[in-house]
Parts: sequence; C-alpha cells; structure tokens
Amino acid sequence: MAGIDIEGLATVYPNGVRAVDGLDLHVADGEFFALLGPSGCGKTTLLRTIAGLEAASEGTVRIDATDVTRTEPGKRGVAMVFQDYALFPHMSVSENITYPLKVRRVAAATRLEVASRTAGELSLDGLLERKPGQLSGGQQQRVALARAIASEGKVLLLDEPLSNLDARLRLEARTFLKKLQRDLGITTVFVTHDQAEALALADRIAVMDSGKLRQLGSPREVFARPANTFVANFIGSTPMNLLPGKVLGDGTVSVAGGSLPATTVSTPADAEVTVGIRPEYLTLSTGDVSGPSLRGEVVVAENLGTQSLVSVDCDGTLIGVTVPEETEPAPGAPVALTAPASRVLLYTQETGELLNSADHTAGARS
Ligand code: ADP
Ligand code: MG
Repeated sequence: MAGIDIEGLATVYPNGVRAVDGLDLHVADGEFFALLGPSGCGKTTLLRTIAGLEAASEGTVRIDATDVTRTEPGKRGVAMVFQDYALFPHMSVSENITYPLKVRRVAAATRLEVASRTAGELSLDGLLERKPGQLSGGQQQRVALARAIASEGKVLLLDEPLSNLDARLRLEARTFLKKLQRDLGITTVFVTHDQAEALALADRIAVMDSGKLRQLGSPREVFARPANTFVANFIGSTPMNLLPGKVLGDGTVSVAGGSLPATTVSTPADAEVTVGIRPEYLTLSTGDVSGPSLRGEVVVAENLGTQSLVSVDCDGTLIGVTVPEETEPAPGAPVALTAPASRVLLYTQETGELLNSADHTAGARS
C-alpha cells in the first residue's frame, strides 16, 4: 500500500492546453480519494499523469515516497481502469484479467489461480471463458476492475468507472466498489463528474476546475461549507441559494427583503456579499416566527420523493427550500424561512471565496 504525493504538477498538451495547472495533493495510504469536476476540467489528464501515460510538464509525482515523475508507466506500481474499460475483445475474461501478469511472464498455472480467485472476489464466477462481448455492462466493468486488482498495483486509478452503467446498475456497482475498496484497503483515486457519486463513495474529495484545485475536503465539508461559489454551485442535488446580501452590524445579513443570522466576525458591517444557503438547511414555517427571517409566498413545489423542493418568492427573489413531503405548502401560501447562523455562508462578491470559514472554525472550537 502506498500514498501519492503531487507537488506543483502541471500537464501541458502540445497544443498549449494546460489541462493540469499547478496542483498540490496528498492521497493517504489506503484512502478512497475522488477527483470531481465538470467535463474538461483535467481529471483524466491528472489520472493519466499519475499513471505516467502523460508526461508531467512541471512538478513531481511520488508514489509510496518514491519520485516516479520520469518513471515509465509499467514500473510505477499503478493499476488503472479506463472509462471505456479497454478490454481485449478477442480474449476471454480469464485472459483479460491475467493479461498484465502474462506480460510480466508469470507462469500459466499461477495466472489461472489468480483469475479464479479475483473472479470470485468480483462476482464473476462462471464467466471466465466468455468473451467481453458476451457480458453485460456491469460485468465488463467488473472484469476491468478485476484486471486492475489482479495486477497487484500499489494504487488503483479509476476513470469514471461507473459512467457507462445505467442508473440502477450504477447504484449497485457503487456499493460494490466501496465495499471492495474497504476490503482491499488499496489507495484509490476515483475520477467522476457526478457530485452525488463522489459524496457517496469518497473519504475525501478534490474539486477541480480548469486544471486547478478549488477545494479539498471530506464529503461533509465540501457539502456543508463550500470554499467558494464554484464548489457551492457544483455540489448538491438541489442547487444552493446564492443571493446578494449585506452584512448588518448585529450578527445578521439582509437578503431578499428580510434577514438571516450569520457569523460575521470577520466581515465588516455594510459589506456587500453573496449569501449562500442550501435548501436543506432552511426551515419553512406557515405560522409566526421570531428572530431574523425571510417572508414570502410559495410559487411551486417539486416532488423529490420523500422531500419537496419549494420555491418561495421573497421580495422578488426565488429561494429554494426542501420540506418533508407531507408538509408541502400550497402555492400562494404566505411563509417564513429561517436558518441557523452556522448554515448561512458569506462569499465575496468579487472572487466568490468563502468569508466566514474562519468564524466557523472558531465557533466549533469554543
Ligand atoms: P476531464 O477528464 O475532466 O473531462 P480531460 O483531462 O480529458 O478532462 O481534458 C482536460 C482539457 O485538456 C480539456 O480542455 C481537453 O480538451 C484537453 N485535452 C485532453 N486531452 C488532450 C490531448 N490529447 N491534446 C490536447 N488537449 C487535450
Ligand atoms: Mg475524463
């Protein structure tokens, strides 16, 4: 097992695109680490640079404390699963799984043993003689995983391994992958553009944009306290409310014709800010409320299953709030929205960086 250390890494393609643009990252030994970001942000390039399939233009990659920046891919101790699985169509499942061992001239008898053991671990028993074309998408995905695992790399690199599966199979494969990674304890870097998948699977998530790191944290941290409005917009199944507001001197912000409590220690009074608040952290009341609140009228409600996403018009601004399905208010109903100060995030209007992160840390300690 091994950690991965990335320092000042840049990968520039011959056409001048800086697909990875100065990254520092540490992936801990045994960690399940997600690289998350929109299409084209450089996730695949970063993974391929770790594997040595793309050459680093600047910076270093260390695996297990060894500098591998100039080491050829086969000698880095990495196993990679490509987005399209890249199985050999003319080879059987068994041959596909053990191909990396064959390249290393491992004896045929040993290869057979590894194939049957790995196939067992990945629920592929009975399929060893089939060709990839005779397998379902989920089975092909597991063969690609089996091949990576059988090669006994120190780190496992997975490029959107679930994206070719349909929705139901993807959920099953997600659970399977999480359990497998736990059981093997292998350091894993998992690329995805699907924020829900990253939140569900990863120990930690690196959110990328345009080749740069925008936030690094646990799923809880990136969900509850996005470090900037880019991450705030990208993470969450229902979009975060991001509204223009103004810091008041009394520990509140004025927003959408009303006010909300906020920790404003590090923000001067009268500062113009972007107020971020997740629909899940707002409370909707149809009766009287005391303290800072937003008043408005229900416009529509969308069914999310056990929850409803209610849009409330507050002084001309639409604000989303989730409520349990059985408490969904009728359109036109007058309502009040409240939130705890710890959930009200303040971002600069200029750069979109989080302003009250330090306040939160101080609050958590006291
Ligand atoms: P992601 O995996 O996040 O979708 P990629 O790493 O594939 O992103 O691409 C990052 C950027 O690099 C994109 O702008 C893409 O167009 C560009 N890119 C990817 N591969 C190449 C290549 N072989 N040559 C030139 N540009 C590339
Ligand atoms: Mg990609």
